[in-house]
Amino acid sequence: MTESISIPPVALPPLGTDPPRAAYIHVPFCVHRCGYCDFTLVAGRDDLMDDYLEALELELRRQVQTQRTLDTLFLGGGTPSHLTVPALKKLFTLLNEWFELTTGYEFSIEVNPAGLSIEKMDLFREAGINRISLGLQSFDDEILRTLERDHRYADIEQVVPQLQERFENVSFDLIFGAPGESLDLWQETLTRAISFQPQHISTYGLTYEKGTTFWKRRERGELVQQPEEVEQKMYDRAMSFLPGQGYDQYEISNFAQAGFACRHNQVYWNGYSYYGLGPGAARYLDGVRTTNHRSVFNWLNRTLAGGSGDGETEELNPEEKARELAVIQLRTIPGIPIGPFHERSKFDLFDLAGPVIDHYVESGWLEMTDSHVRLTKAGRFVADTLVVDFL
Ligand code: SF4
Repeated sequence: MTESISIPPVALPPLGTDPPRAAYIHVPFCVHRCGYCDFTLVAGRDDLMDDYLEALELELRRQVQTQRTLDTLFLGGGTPSHLTVPALKKLFTLLNEWFELTTGYEFSIEVNPAGLSIEKMDLFREAGINRISLGLQSFDDEILRTLERDHRYADIEQVVPQLQERFENVSFDLIFGAPGESLDLWQETLTRAISFQPQHISTYGLTYEKGTTFWKRRERGELVQQPEEVEQKMYDRAMSFLPGQGYDQYEISNFAQAGFACRHNQVYWNGYSYYGLGPGAARYLDGVRTTNHRSVFNWLNRTLAGGSGDGETEELNPEEKARELAVIQLRTIPGIPIGPFHERSKFDLFDLAGPVIDHYVESGWLEMTDSHVRLTKAGRFVADTLVVDFL
């Protein structure tokens, strides 16, 4: 990637007016579909990789106009690391042609331990990738089997040091609340995770999305979902254990060593514009949110036919934009910055949501500081329910 000098914005631009300085590329390929996964992807269809790359190029042409300088680039999936070496090379060439990364950029890729070769790791480095998001989920083989993951602890033990030799910013994704997982086992997972000293850790509770194999198996009684109080104890354990080990919580699901909070996510959480390419990817440009077709085949067919891969488009009015910003920022640990919120949205937070804030402050789920409205620790457990009242 060509580097240029980055001049960070000094004033906060009003919502929806900033040029995009971030891009998300969705890579929809996996070896197989894990039982709990409802992401946009195809499993066992590596034959579609060439079509995907062709469609991606067409979408870049349609979507990316003048603004090509990025602070952050994120390859997510699916499993981007599952692309073959020739496909990865083609993808990186394409991105290099279309985007220029600023000095101090962040370029992330999601990878899975299974099938991750040294050749691919070296290729990532050559392409300028400087942040690895590693989908580990657990260190326990039994839990990995239950989650239908295709890696085992032996794979983790092998690839983590290999990645850490090459990258200074490695993040672990972990899942808690798998069937059969005890609080002690979750604690072992956390302890094992920090023994590797990754720079960043994300923890997610297992969800049973309608339509997934897990959802059906739970309906049939084959899988027993953890009681809510067990899941809460596990989340609470992560929140109490990780900060003491040098990982500050900066968002509901995210913990990082100092200086390693994910910069790409900050773009979403601050309501900045971004490109989104690939099936199911969302973008936010000129104040309009567009989500591409979630079906990989629809997106491919339409894009390859010279049309648009757009699925839903939503243009929010100024008040809706402000409310959405409040919801996203509430998920961060510092919360909603009252002054900058007004500066960007042109709405006073308390005119917009005063009664809701008062109500939840009284419940003990929100608190106010001189500069922010934020979730309390108790509020983090119920954030998904609470934020709906801000809309
Ligand atoms: S590897 Fe990740 S993206 Fe692929 S099926 Fe499993 S959970 Fe979904």
